[in-house]
Amino acid sequence: MENREFLIPLNGLASGGTRFRWKADGKFFDDFGNADILDADIVAEAVAVKNSGGVRVDCSIIGTVTVQCDRCMDDLVLPVDTEVSLKLRYNAPADGTDDEDGCETVSVSAEDHDFDMRQTVYDYVCVSLPMQRFHNDGECNPEMIERLGRGITVTGTETDENPFESLRELFPEKK
Ligand SMILES: [Zn+2]
Repeated sequence: MENREFLIPLNGLASGGTRFRWKADGKFFDDFGNADILDADIVAEAVAVKNSGGVRVDCSIIGTVTVQCDRCMDDLVLPVDTEVSLKLRYNAPADGTDDEDGCETVSVSAEDHDFDMRQTVYDYVCVSLPMQRFHNDGECNPEMIERLGRGITVTGTETDENPFESLRELFPEKK
């Protein structure tokens, strides 16, 4: 099995399923200019099956990414567990409609030798991450929380959540 980085050969796939396994690390996200993802340890495993209209790809994307906690600015490791199914079709209509079985149809040209899965893996990891990224209550770096609470104004999104709520849990009032 020829296993070039994140490339699925469109021609010359053996009949039956061909398995691929790629790793996405911090540099992978860096190459996309993503400054939010500080580090990553992700394994993408794909099975490509040739059929009459093209190639079907089922890919699981599992691992972790490290981002900055919105609350204490410390490193926050988030789990990633997502999957994507693609139908690579020759000269498919370019409307990118999702099939009824949850497959995304992608048009490829007969001149394409490979399909590059990099953008797909990147997009699905980013979409799978929560909008609000912070540690569970009580798991923030208490030193940073204290420092932030003392002098520096916490800027960012305004929410109904009291930013000092987490402080109170860390430093319960003495009775
Ligand atoms: Zn935190």
